[in-house]
Amino acid sequence: MGDEVVTLRDEVLRLTREYTGALAAVSTEEALEEFRIQWLGRKGKVTQLLRKLGTLPPEERPAAGQLLNRLREEIETALAERTRVVAAAAQEARIRAERLDLTLPGRRQPLGHLHPITLVLGEIKRFFMGLGYEVVEGPEVETDYYNFQALNVPKDHPARDMQATFYLAGELVLRTQTSPVQIRTMEARQPPVRIIAPGKVYRNDADVTHSPMFHQVEGLVVDRGIRFSDLKGTLAAFARALFGEDRAVRFRPSYFPFTEPSAEMDVSCVICGGRGCRVCKGEGWLEILGAGMVHPRVLEMVGYDPEEVSGFAFGLGVERVVMLRYGIDDIRLFFENDRRFLAQF
Ligand SMILES: [Zn+2]
Repeated sequence: MGDEVVTLRDEVLRLTREYTGALAAVSTEEALEEFRIQWLGRKGKVTQLLRKLGTLPPEERPAAGQLLNRLREEIETALAERTRVVAAAAQEARIRAERLDLTLPGRRQPLGHLHPITLVLGEIKRFFMGLGYEVVEGPEVETDYYNFQALNVPKDHPARDMQATFYLAGELVLRTQTSPVQIRTMEARQPPVRIIAPGKVYRNDADVTHSPMFHQVEGLVVDRGIRFSDLKGTLAAFARALFGEDRAVRFRPSYFPFTEPSAEMDVSCVICGGRGCRVCKGEGWLEILGAGMVHPRVLEMVGYDPEEVSGFAFGLGVERVVMLRYGIDDIRLFFENDRRFLAQF
């Protein structure tokens, strides 16, 4: 064997050590390609050695060629194997990055909850339903007849000025009270009647304690032998259910066109307990609702006989109750939908 081949053999051994180390350091697809160009490309190290074959004496070429071809095959095999390893590692990394940890707690959707007015309305409904009352609703756009005349407020009656009415076209109004529901109910059925009518009402009035739209609950009981003591007992029990068992209750004479006699009910102040404070204006009492015995003329207008049946009616503003219950002094907070406010209930 000639010296040239021996030299070539040393060169092949050197390159074998070199490519093994270089390939082991390759860990990306770009580096793999770089390696391929550097070793097997047109100007690669193995290709350059193969070109040198032509400079050897003819008898030494086959052995040298064999040696170089084996080196090239070895590198190709090692490169293929390394390519497989790098691809597998890349996939592994991708899977790890995209991995879902199913044991992590889920992201909670913020839960909404009931508006304070809805909460208190619900309490009021539950109290009266517990006494056997039925919940009845009616239209918010009413005729003048149902909103006023049938409630003993004829045209030109001064009591119309008690409510700042929104008039619509013709004889229509936005109802100023839920009382029309009482009339519609009495027209449609015979006593005994035992209902509450919750809903929105409208008055042209706006400041910190008045809103052009607010909620009212009215109640009506008509049967044989209903007396003022029934009114007092029912409403005193209601006030205590709403504001606490230790509340004192008082009734003051008042005036409503559709009840006679009429009264307003106060509870001892929920803030100061009756000693006097800013909320009760030093009185110790808070006005909660208006009530009275249904006016005989109202009974007649729906076709009931006032000699046979009697009844009582009451009405209260829901916003006012909520404001007193939670010590809120601005009614506009209910309608601004500020979540920081609403989340407190
Ligand atoms: Zn007070």
